[in-house]
Amino acid sequence: MGMTHREYLWGDRIYGCSKCHTHLAAIESMVSRAFTGQHGRAYLFDKVVNVITGGPAERTMTTGLHTVRDIYCCKCGTTLGWKYDRAYETSQRYKEGKFILERNLLVDVEI
Ligand SMILES: [Zn+2]
Repeated sequence: MGMTHREYLWGDRIYGCSKCHTHLAAIESMVSRAFTGQHGRAYLFDKVVNVITGGPAERTMTTGLHTVRDIYCCKCGTTLGWKYDRAYETSQRYKEGKFILERNLLVDVEI
């Protein structure tokens, strides 16, 4: 997918892409486990690495209108979740700049 340099994470628990095991996020960056993605449970992180971000799209969710960008694994191109650019409801603003990763698309990576 065009990116040659990949970032490696350190932490108590590292989540990686289930397909190619590229490091994506450390448990220390997890904000919430209580999210729902397109394939079931999903996690909210404030830092995710080794992803490519798609173009902005407006999406209406149960919590209102959001501008989001799909995120893809930089190695294998799997769609992993999305990034919140903007939340229109004041109560949802904390999600801006954060990332959703779908639990079913993650694996624990041995470090
Ligand atoms: Zn991958």
